[in-house]
Amino acid sequence: MKDSKDRLEALRVGIERRNPAQPEFHQAVREVLDTLAPVFAARPEYADPAAALVERLTEPERQIVFRVPWQDDRGRVHVNRGYRVEFNSALGPYKGGLRFHPSVDIGVVKFLGFEQIFKNALTGLGIGGGKGGSDFDPRGRSDAEVMRFCQSFMTELHRHIGEHTDVPAGDIGVGGREIGYLFGQYRRITNRWEAGVLTGKGQGWGGSAIRPQATGYGSVLFAAEMLGVRGGSLDGLTAVVSGSGNVALYTVEKLQQLGANPLTCSDSHGYVVDDKGIDLALLKQVKEVERGRVSEYAARRGSSARFVPGGRVWEVPADIAFPSATQNELDAQDARTLVAGGVKAVSEGANMPTTPEAVRILQEAGVAFGPGKAANAGGVAVSALEMSQNAGRAAWSAQRVEDELAAIMRSIHAVVHETAERYGAPGDYVTGANIAGFERVADAMLAQGVI
Ligand code: NDP
Repeated sequence: MKDSKDRLEALRVGIERRNPAQPEFHQAVREVLDTLAPVFAARPEYADPAAALVERLTEPERQIVFRVPWQDDRGRVHVNRGYRVEFNSALGPYKGGLRFHPSVDIGVVKFLGFEQIFKNALTGLGIGGGKGGSDFDPRGRSDAEVMRFCQSFMTELHRHIGEHTDVPAGDIGVGGREIGYLFGQYRRITNRWEAGVLTGKGQGWGGSAIRPQATGYGSVLFAAEMLGVRGGSLDGLTAVVSGSGNVALYTVEKLQQLGANPLTCSDSHGYVVDDKGIDLALLKQVKEVERGRVSEYAARRGSSARFVPGGRVWEVPADIAFPSATQNELDAQDARTLVAGGVKAVSEGANMPTTPEAVRILQEAGVAFGPGKAANAGGVAVSALEMSQNAGRAAWSAQRVEDELAAIMRSIHAVVHETAERYGAPGDYVTGANIAGFERVADAMLAQGVI
């Protein structure tokens, strides 16, 4: 075990030196390497320096960076930067979302792409890992501006993607509207009806039922599984949810369906706490229809709700917590606050929302902690089901997709739970998810030779 730890530490130092100024990527790599010592000890072929498996796994197969010029409504030209990191295709075509947010840079895209490799492996479906996006900020832009940006972005991206090559989807700042504009431009440039090139499409033109709901629903189902192992359920529990985008909205919806009471939502300006529980119809109207801020929800909801500018939802005591906005949004202090408030489980709807120190505090306090690689894999799983439907020119019923999603989330939980036990870390879902995902990808890479 000591040799394994030394080898992993040497790998980490080398990877950080080779990829300077990419803190999120370093964090994502370190979080995986920190849990691999038991599997390196048990399976020496993974650790063999001569095979350089981890060196290959942490180096993207391809990184594409491109200029995205576009004109705003006043005729002014803007230049953004576009990215697609095709990280690993050992298990299938690269698969992972596009993020449009001012914080996007190559390090953020690489962290997301790296996480995606293991998440996609955990689904058990045939999809590799990739991620992309741009530092474009769609907030406050008109539909016409967003369309022109998406068309310019796809004018370059189309050369690199395809149903058997690389299949992007949505992420922060990329929802149904953006996928529509991107798909339209792809179709125009290529003159192909290639539905399987993007997922998250509208249901009338190749999209899957339940795809918009899948990440949030899956994160709640994962929490239900974690509670079930401990003899509990969601029924009657209070919940804190951060974010108010795609993942957060459908986390709230599934919590309510399963008898829990979500009390909060948030955006980058602050959070709302609603003592009566979130009014989902009003929140959807404000966010999905009007593209407004959560403060507007509070203003219209009446006396049960208040907006806390600049605050964090974790200060509201609750039984379960769902970080569903962005990376590193739940830090050590937040974790201590949650523990003091009696939290039983945390399920990551977002990618890497909990800092490593916060994860440690939660786990040491006995809180069931579901890492994003496992807990939010429902979104990409239903994206893979969308690809299957597109390949067969079929449209499955919402019930069928939801049943499949529930089965996949149960299976991910079972694999992760069992793997953690097998490697001497019972109840540690971080270790279980990292090792189970790693084993599947590593075995495929070793079988396919040095590429
Ligand atoms: P959306 O763009 O729909 O919503 C993002 C939400 O998070 C908004 O409420 C936004 O507020 C908030 N947010 C974003 N950045 C920040 C920030 N820097 N500080 C505070 N709040 C912020 O994105 P999604 O719901 O799709 O994605 C949320 C998370 O879930 C991301 O981590 C994403 O990677 C992850 N995820 C998404 C999947 C999907 O299927 N969509 C699948 C798996 C994971 P504001 O409007 O003020 O920016």
